[in-house]
Amino acid sequence: LFITFEGGDGTGKTTQAELLSAWLEEQGRTVVRSREPGGTELGLELREIVLHSRGHIAPRAEALIYAADRAHNIATKVRPAVERGDIVIQDRYIDSSVAYQGAGRVLDGDEVRDISLWATEGFQPNLTILLDLDEAAGRARLDASRTRFDRLEAEKAEFHARVRGSYLALAAAEPERFLLVDAALPVDDIAASIRQRVGALLS
Ligand code: C5P
Ligand code: MG
Repeated sequence: LFITFEGGDGTGKTTQAELLSAWLEEQGRTVVRSREPGGTELGLELREIVLHSRGHIAPRAEALIYAADRAHNIATKVRPAVERGDIVIQDRYIDSSVAYQGAGRVLDGDEVRDISLWATEGFQPNLTILLDLDEAAGRARLDASRTRFDRLEAEKAEFHARVRGSYLALAAAEPERFLLVDAALPVDDIAASIRQRVGALLS
């Protein structure tokens, strides 16, 4: 089983991924955690490159670096784990590239997706949890945590509005794959609705 978390910065993806992992492990499941960019050693190097040069890198080059990270992560980590029967829970996947490199950097979303489908030999998540939050609320959360204050500062509000709109369109187009969650709800309520959906997948 391959489960991905999507959503803008500051929407609580990592928190919810960790809560879900802990819940599954309590039930004796083997969980592998991953993230993009940076799920592997090579991925961490690519993450440094792509995040440090953000805003100065040609959009198509950025899209290809994310696709390279994704290709290596799926081939060496995610696909083998899923084939062993483990549950892989990952922060971000192809939908992030459609939203950020496609809508955000104004590339063709279908072309961006096609590059990643080639990169991953069409490997698809069984479930994608989209944590939806308006840009101002995401910004406020990151400000509060202070650790990543610069991230949203570095990019414009319109960029994040395009990213959010793209995510919502993706979820509307594939309602059976997506669980759309209001990320403004309390953490425990969000975790409960995610557990309910994942529990149904497992039974
Ligand atoms: O999810 P995480 O916080 O690790 O993402 C790091 C940064 O990379 C985020 O600020 C996000 O905006 C950016 N990103 C991106 N395109 C992707 C994935 C992440 O621009 N495909
Ligand atoms: Mg995170």
